Amino acid sequence: MRASGSIAVETRLAASRTAPAPDLVNSAVSGKDLGRFRRALLRWYDQNRRDLPWRETRDPYRIWLSEIMLQQTRVAAVLDHYRIFLERFPNVEALAAASEEAVLAAWSGLGYYRRARMLYQAAQQIAEQHGGFPRNSEALLALPGIGRYTAAAIASIAFAEPVAVVDGNVERVLQRLIGINLTTAQIWQHAQALLASSRPGDFNQAMMELGATVCVPREPRCLMCPVRKWCVTQGEVPRAEPPSRQKKKQIWCALEWRDGDGNGNKNGKVRLVQRPRKASLMPGMWELPQSSEPPRPLPVSAHWRTFRHSITITDYTVHVLRNTPLPDTLPAAKGKWIAIDRIPQIPITGLTRKILKAGGII
Ligand code: SF4
Repeated sequence: MRASGSIAVETRLAASRTAPAPDLVNSAVSGKDLGRFRRALLRWYDQNRRDLPWRETRDPYRIWLSEIMLQQTRVAAVLDHYRIFLERFPNVEALAAASEEAVLAAWSGLGYYRRARMLYQAAQQIAEQHGGFPRNSEALLALPGIGRYTAAAIASIAFAEPVAVVDGNVERVLQRLIGINLTTAQIWQHAQALLASSRPGDFNQAMMELGATVCVPREPRCLMCPVRKWCVTQGEVPRAEPPSRQKKKQIWCALEWRDGDGNGNKNGKVRLVQRPRKASLMPGMWELPQSSEPPRPLPVSAHWRTFRHSITITDYTVHVLRNTPLPDTLPAAKGKWIAIDRIPQIPITGLTRKILKAGGII
């Protein structure tokens, strides 16, 4: 399971694979101690790992899906989406045969929709070219959206290939264990040197689990750490300042709907706008009409609710106006009336889903 920020780690790591080899593993974890280290970590993992649905399977499709969903997204937010997505697309063939729109609709609410598009493209390649799921990290690396981390995670967990993973959690654990600033190439080499090749998938997950639950960024819980005796720093590492969020913005959204035949909202329609297909963010997704300026004049009675919402590095304050259309001169104000019972089949943005749910519309 990869940690937030691991995409950046992977990108940096991929760029530095050719760096010269460092001395592998610090002196505290070498020779016989290497075996003890591995056993201690695996024993701790066996006894303490969180029960997560993707840990109950060796199906590469399910592991792949979990790894992609967990990129930049918390475990708690992934659980329901993972289950629903697998109900709709239980295997790679079903995913490849679906429409992109249906895939994006099932992804709706998870954000970072490029992940869903790449997943879909990779599924189509697997169905067309591979005659089954690629069974090693090298072949997996050739697929869209699968980088070094993801290829190693799938190959080690599903096929027991002895390849180490490095995500943000593993990077932090290794830096603290060894106590020196490692280059990205060195981090991958240390991870590989520590790997227990008898149980590579479990060992990789144990390292990530350690970083996610014990060797956490702010206050590492060293007293309960299974590898404390091999750790040079025991948490005494200057902490980097957390990256500050960069932007704050306000937007105004128009929530307009028409009642249907009097049997409640489900038979009604709501006005939605489709984002441009070439937009850099969430292309082709449907959302409520919105503007960075409020309509003027703006009657006080038009304001319904205010939401907080974050997309990538921007925090939005979202003012929702009920049944107050935005001026027609705004391109984002023009939209289509969409039947509410069609909404589950179309890709809508997470913000729009949040507002429609809050209004009891979906
Ligand atoms: S002892 Fe503390 S700092 Fe070292 S690996 Fe364990 S939790 Fe992290």
